[in-house]
Amino acid sequence: MHHLIDHWIRPELRALSAYQVADARGLIKLDAMENPYGWPEGMKQEWAALLSQVAINRYPDPQATQLQGPLRAAMGIADDMGLLLGNGSDEIIQMLCLALAGPGRTLLSVEPGFVMYRLIASFCGLRYCGVPLNPEDFSLDLPTLLQTLEQEQPALVFLAYPNNPTGNLFDEQALLAIIQAAPGLVVIDEAYAPFTDASFMARLGQFDNLLVMRTLSKMGLAGLRLGLLAGPRSWLEQLDKVRMPYNINSLTQASAAFALRHIQVLQQQTQQIRRDRALLQGQLQTLPGLTPYASEANFILLRLPEGRASAVFAAMKQQGVLVKNLHGAHPSLRDCLRLTIGTPEENQACLRALQTALSIRVP
Ligand SMILES: *Cc1c(COP(=O)(O)O)cnc(C)c1O
Repeated sequence: MHHLIDHWIRPELRALSAYQVADARGLIKLDAMENPYGWPEGMKQEWAALLSQVAINRYPDPQATQLQGPLRAAMGIADDMGLLLGNGSDEIIQMLCLALAGPGRTLLSVEPGFVMYRLIASFCGLRYCGVPLNPEDFSLDLPTLLQTLEQEQPALVFLAYPNNPTGNLFDEQALLAIIQAAPGLVVIDEAYAPFTDASFMARLGQFDNLLVMRTLSKMGLAGLRLGLLAGPRSWLEQLDKVRMPYNINSLTQASAAFALRHIQVLQQQTQQIRRDRALLQGQLQTLPGLTPYASEANFILLRLPEGRASAVFAAMKQQGVLVKNLHGAHPSLRDCLRLTIGTPEENQACLRALQTALSIRVP
């Protein structure tokens, strides 16, 4: 069987390892940028009653009509811009790659960045080019980026704003220079929009090649799988051709429309997370030997004393707290962990586990 697999599975796919999701059973889950809060009991009951009315025997509305208006309102998308929905923004990245892939075509992003850009590019047969961020503060290396844009002529550029896993916002003027210099599409990925005031949404239409991507995942609806792409209609009409007709299922459509009617509940939660981010940031700063990086997202990138990350990660897990170990993911993430902001209680448990782990000297 193996010779068949080696013969038929594309070499670039065989070379990849599957996206790993850690087993979080029984642990405080601070590894995946989820909102830790649920919904008030009354809201849950109203939601359940609504879902019981969904015609599950029918195919979903292919245009998700009931979602369009509420999403535009919630995300500040102008009426003259188009809107494309995906089964999570991961599916939108896939649609973009499918539509733009071809011999000699390249996707460009920055490193360290969101790993799905590179993975999905490989799935779709796009060459991937990752330009290193400045290692000291994870800012854009604009001269190198402009030179690489010129050399590589990428079909597609992805930039997360704020960036994952570093948490910072890139310089706005640098991003504008990239949008203007890029020969192809530039997608600003605003997955962490609920945790920052910065956005490129209002700039849609100012450039022929700018699209903005958002998701409901990080604001508290990760289980629904709903992402969106906004931008000039003429682009989105083309991209819509590679979308599976029923990609947003009926339960997601009904649930997201319901959640958006109660958006103040989600906004209160994300505001709480922003306040708790500042609190945790301050507490981490007081611990000797730690470098917490400033964050505009719902996580904090933390650098530990040299050589400690993997042991500290394991010791925290032993104490029931799951974070993300980034040591080894990229040279500039050496000794780094990424902590998702949880509830105040979870953040304190995380801090305690971290302190305990750090005081256990490993030989
Ligand atoms: C989490 C994340 C996404 C993925 O969002 P989904 O909508 O859940 O697929 C996209 N971009 C970045 C930068 C992320 O961190």
